[in-house]
Amino acid sequence: MDVTVVGGGVAGLATALALARRGHEVIVVERDPTPMPTSADEAFGWDRRGAPQVRHSHAFLGRLRNLLANHYPDIYADLLGEGATEMRFGDNIPTEMTNYEREPGDDEIVMLACRRTTFEWVVRRAALAEGRVHFLTGLGVEGVLAATGSGSAPLVTGVRLSNGSELASDLVIAAAGRRSVVPDWLAAVGAASIPEEVEDTGIVYFSRFYKLRFGHEYPPRGGAIGGDLGYAKYGVFVGDNRTFSVTLACPTEDGVLRKMFADPDVFDTAARELVATAPWLDGRAEPITEAVCVMAGLLNCWREYVVDGGPVALGLLPVGDAVLCTNPLYGRGCSTAFWGADLIADAVNSHPNDLRALALAYDHALRAEIYPWYRASVEQDGEARRVAAALLAGRDPDADATDPRTFMRGVFRDGLVPAIRSDAVVMRAFLRSFNLLSAPDAMATDVDISSRILAVWQDRGNRAPEAALGPKHRREFLALLDQPPATAGMIDTVSPSGTTVPRPSR
Ligand SMILES: Cc1cc2nc3c(=O)[nH]c(=O)nc-3n(C[C@H](O)[C@H](O)[C@H](O)COP(=O)(O)OP(=O)(O)OC[C@H]3O[C@@H](n4cnc5c(N)ncnc54)[C@H](O)[C@@H]3O)c2cc1C
Repeated sequence: MDVTVVGGGVAGLATALALARRGHEVIVVERDPTPMPTSADEAFGWDRRGAPQVRHSHAFLGRLRNLLANHYPDIYADLLGEGATEMRFGDNIPTEMTNYEREPGDDEIVMLACRRTTFEWVVRRAALAEGRVHFLTGLGVEGVLAATGSGSAPLVTGVRLSNGSELASDLVIAAAGRRSVVPDWLAAVGAASIPEEVEDTGIVYFSRFYKLRFGHEYPPRGGAIGGDLGYAKYGVFVGDNRTFSVTLACPTEDGVLRKMFADPDVFDTAARELVATAPWLDGRAEPITEAVCVMAGLLNCWREYVVDGGPVALGLLPVGDAVLCTNPLYGRGCSTAFWGADLIADAVNSHPNDLRALALAYDHALRAEIYPWYRASVEQDGEARRVAAALLAGRDPDADATDPRTFMRGVFRDGLVPAIRSDAVVMRAFLRSFNLLSAPDAMATDVDISSRILAVWQDRGNRAPEAALGPKHRREFLALLDQPPATAGMIDTVSPSGTTVPRPSR
């Protein structure tokens, strides 16, 4: 097949590689004009304004790492050769976890530590070297070409480019990311509208990158790599080539924290006050991003390209954030993008001459394998938003002891968290789920795992309370940052345009 891929981000690259290695000819159209970097550090300065999240922390989960290691061992080796490292379950086991014994499946529980720019640069370099993948950069796709398909669904026959030219193709892959306007392009050629489910994650993201100073190393690992304080969340991410990044996140409504986290000095002070990030900012590293990168408008989003059992268009398949986008906190996006690309390649293999059967097979696989992770993200975010709103309003989110959510939060805090630290069986199950290697409900439906967690929870009275991973109360945190808490009558709110407007507190 002659395939056009719209967008050269992670999903576009993954699909281009998957299809090219199965013998298809691929053209990737990427709007960002910047030339290829020549090193990981140069890639970090790459102008990728079409994918601004590249300068935020990225975790590359086991699902993605295993796809690469098993299907693209050459690219995986290139990533390691360019400074990415593996983080394996079994390394850095906490001393209190006395029942750890290695199991064969543990070889799957491996994350890749790497900056997103390094990851994308190495994968693009591999795609460029493929022979069957060609890139058109600095040109955007502005619409699709279509003929009348079977029934009411138009048949997409190519794309229209920003320079007015047209590119005919047997299959168009829509990999234009989270802001993709593919539904509008399809509507313009007569396709039915594409139902969209959108849930705000309720958070704003702040990231800053650092590099170890000469003669210094990463702090000992094995402890927490982040925490959820309710009013804020945070984490530290190991990168390639002696880099790392810190991400702080706060509720969208918290104008005070939003303003503070965006200031590089306050950001560093905040990271030094948080248990899991403090050792990283003890002078062993220096920032390599002057400003703090800020990203708001983070959504969970799912788009239906098959409605009432029929594809809305033939000859076009969506992949990556263009079809399914989840809260970045869970680090799933690049994994689900690569996973989706793999599902497309399988479906193309099974139905090379039947675009309708191809669309249905891909949709079926997507719904069965990846959609449950979208639902899991939405549910988790709903609860996180409830807690954050209560804390911001000065209320105790656990005040109602009869609320089942209070019970669940207790089990999480005093059961799951300590069990992960002390019981290798629970840790393994948790990491399998975190790395998308088991179903989202695998832990909850496993009787052995549930009873281990409940046993730890029931024993909570016999041990010291869990150590907090940062100030328990938002007002303490604000005081530590040497900022007066939002006081008497006023809370600052940052408007979408970025200007600060005062509003009366409730
Ligand atoms: C703040 C943040 C942090 C994240 N952290 C993680 C993480 O830790 N781990 C993880 O796995 N995922 C993470 N993600 C998600 C991850 O970045 C995305 O899921 C992933 O980039 C999706 O890849 P994509 O190719 O679909 O989209 P993108 O990577 O956004 O690429 C889309 C590409 O399409 C191009 N494009 C758009 N429109 C056109 C057009 N009309 N014509 C031509 N080209 C076009 C753009 O220039 C861009 O290059 C994070 C996301 C955010 C926002």
